Amino acid sequence: MNPDSIAFDPALLVFNASIASAFSDENKEYRRRFERFYLQSVARDILPGERVSKCIREVIPGKKFVDVMYSQKHERAQYNNLIVCGSLWMCPVCAAKISERRKVEMIKAIQSAKVQGLNNFMVTVTFQHTREDKLIDLARVLNDVYRQLKSGRWWQDFQARWQVVGVVTGTEITYGLGSGFHPHKHAVFFSERPISRIYTQTIENEITERWCMLLEKQGYYASQYHAVDVRKGDHNALAYVSKMGKEFDTHAWGIENEITKGIVKKSKDAERFGPFQLLDLYADGIEWAGYKFQEYAYAMKGKNQLTYSPGLRDLLDLGAEVTDQEIAEAPIANNLVLLGSITRKEWTAILKRENRAMLLAVASTGDAEYLRVCIEAMTKAR
Ligand SMILES: [Zn+2]
Repeated sequence: MNPDSIAFDPALLVFNASIASAFSDENKEYRRRFERFYLQSVARDILPGERVSKCIREVIPGKKFVDVMYSQKHERAQYNNLIVCGSLWMCPVCAAKISERRKVEMIKAIQSAKVQGLNNFMVTVTFQHTREDKLIDLARVLNDVYRQLKSGRWWQDFQARWQVVGVVTGTEITYGLGSGFHPHKHAVFFSERPISRIYTQTIENEITERWCMLLEKQGYYASQYHAVDVRKGDHNALAYVSKMGKEFDTHAWGIENEITKGIVKKSKDAERFGPFQLLDLYADGIEWAGYKFQEYAYAMKGKNQLTYSPGLRDLLDLGAEVTDQEIAEAPIANNLVLLGSITRKEWTAILKRENRAMLLAVASTGDAEYLRVCIEAMTKAR
């Protein structure tokens, strides 16, 4: 996407030089939020009947204004009184918030496991497919076979042998030009048994044999060389993150990111795309990408992205599970103050020019007067 193509009024930039720099490459966070809002409006075109088409857009019935709330501590702003869709699969804005929160929880899980002397290893499973396969079928097969893998006698023996106490599993979907939708699962297995590098190969062989057999029963096929990957968890990256208290740099994602950031992950090779990159392609005029995003959205709607095996959350002291919707609706900080209110008429104009991210950047200065000036400038007829 070319951010220059997004409709905002460059004249606004003269009000405050800091806003201009907010959209430069140095300030990636603003730029990303800008992209997320933009891609969300692209999703709205493709999925007009879904909640994502109303997200941070439609005013909650009965509310008069869109309120702009500000956190002085975090120097951040958010909108109140708007519908929030909470759709991890479909909404770039909600997905960013949900996956960030899930990532923080995964860090906590791994830390908690470490404190308890547990080890972890990461398992990735996939299978073969073609461009003709429908994602809804592939996703069903993946879920069915994964459930079968983790049940019955074989699984009981496997768990006992490797002293597995719990598993967190994330589902990820990418799209490849050659072979179509590529659903796969990343899982973190927590175990009491120390897992050395040589054991990871043994584990990989064991799971591969079972995985391929179960898939063949469903009429699908997995390569014994590529279908299953097992590796040791990365404690170093985690130690770094917990010490810094910051989110991972995108170039240094550890295992918890593999799972939770799957949905927003930018594919490394140009021939394979993450779901939101399909939106980006569609916005650039590539029509098939829009149809593929639609197929993906309907296939994945309502499905869990991340699941903890029974009892694991308690064991790792994670507390009750919070829903995607609750995370998406949660305020960005405590003690938010009202910085300004936007009338419905003004809001319509702001939406029309896709100035939502821009206005949040303005509000994050904490300058109420400046916010008001910008709202009026944005809503003036050109
Ligand atoms: Zn949303």
